[in-house]
Amino acid sequence: MTDQAYDVAVVGGGLIGSTLAHALGQSGFNVVLLERNAPNALLADNFDGRTTALAASTATILKSLGLWTALEPVAGPITDIRVSDRGSGLYLHFDHSAVGAEPMGYIVENRHLRRTLADALEQTECVTVEAPVSVMSIERNSARAMLALADGRTLSAQLVIGTDGKKSLVRQSAGIRTIGWAYDQTALVTVLHHEEPHRGIAHERFLKGGPLALLPMLNPHLSSLVWTEDTKTAERLEALSDADFTAEVGRAFGPWLGSLTLAAPRSRWDLALHHATRYVAPRLALAGDAAHGIHPIAGQGANLGWRDVAVLAEILVDARRLGLDIGGLDVLNRYQAWRRPDNMTLAAATDGLNRLFRGVAGPIGLARDLGLGAVNRIPPLKHFFMRHAMGLTGTLPRLARGEAL
Ligand SMILES: Cc1cc2nc3c(=O)[nH]c(=O)nc-3n(C[C@H](O)[C@H](O)[C@H](O)COP(=O)(O)OP(=O)(O)OC[C@H]3O[C@@H](n4cnc5c(N)ncnc54)[C@H](O)[C@@H]3O)c2cc1C
Repeated sequence: MTDQAYDVAVVGGGLIGSTLAHALGQSGFNVVLLERNAPNALLADNFDGRTTALAASTATILKSLGLWTALEPVAGPITDIRVSDRGSGLYLHFDHSAVGAEPMGYIVENRHLRRTLADALEQTECVTVEAPVSVMSIERNSARAMLALADGRTLSAQLVIGTDGKKSLVRQSAGIRTIGWAYDQTALVTVLHHEEPHRGIAHERFLKGGPLALLPMLNPHLSSLVWTEDTKTAERLEALSDADFTAEVGRAFGPWLGSLTLAAPRSRWDLALHHATRYVAPRLALAGDAAHGIHPIAGQGANLGWRDVAVLAEILVDARRLGLDIGGLDVLNRYQAWRRPDNMTLAAATDGLNRLFRGVAGPIGLARDLGLGAVNRIPPLKHFFMRHAMGLTGTLPRLARGEAL
């Protein structure tokens, strides 16, 4: 592969990079996808306890890309969302039928997403997957981006796209800074089996250290747990035996789903916000966590990444149809102008929600609870929040409208 030339080099084969490589390959771009992990490590069949909440608009994007047929049978629909606050009787109730017949979103195990994307990439003729291989450095000139790989090979592309996660080498190679902060909060993630069926309801309960979310999976007796706590408390909870941990979940969540047992390994995630000051440079673009990482309070991080994919792919396809240079700044600036405001809005909204609900008592706590009750009683306000959570606001790219690229 020494000095092999491609249209696009996608660095990072996580959920976002794999989807983007597939979308571009389907549209006839000659793409190389570079991932440092071995495929076997990413495609292990045993469940690691990680799931992703897909917004309704993400499901439409995946449908438009022909990926939904494999995912639908393993996707648990979310039909209702209940938001409650510790110690207060007030709660918000979002019912999908208020905005349409479709579910508000879906919970899918990450292993199913990874497998579906790997199978699709195998069938996408124009995509070459190189894994395991690490990209070590990137240089750009006016015509191409040159990538040096850890095994000594080099390759070049008209455009390099960084989907290489929050510590993105692609971002650093262009000297693009990020703004952000650590939350001093840790999310504990696993899956729980519960005695009573979940009936498609996603629960989000705000506790002193952060939200505890129980998200309905395909099996009516399984829910994905994402429990955010201040890091000290999370460390104490993490050290507990499985039985003691589950008992703590029961105490924090309440009795609504009956008795609980652990159904998957537990993992911990230290939380932070980061946002790249620019998403593009000549011959370079960033998408997914390489460009932005937000608080998981609303389960929107990867959904923003999938919207990046839909917009970037559309802009590149249009540019090629018009005979424009896909690595040119004029083309790439359109992507940045379209996606940055949406991503910044969600970063600010999730940050604000986290601050609003975290550990505040007294007048602010009262105002917050009154706010929850008010939103619940005012249908237009409720619609506004629901359409945001479903990813149905702003100018939707073709893939999110159910159209082909
Ligand atoms: C607790 C928690 C719960 C969450 N829940 C949700 C949810 O329900 N819904 C949702 O939408 N989002 C959720 N998110 C966010 C979501 O997990 C991320 O936004 C998403 O996984 C980012 O995907 P990505 O492909 O951009 O990056 P990553 O998953 O970080 O992938 C980057 C890839 O690049 C590879 N790579 C890095 N550097 C190199 C290199 N130099 N060379 C080659 N390869 C490289 C890595 O190996 C990796 O595979 C959650 C996050 C957390 C922490």
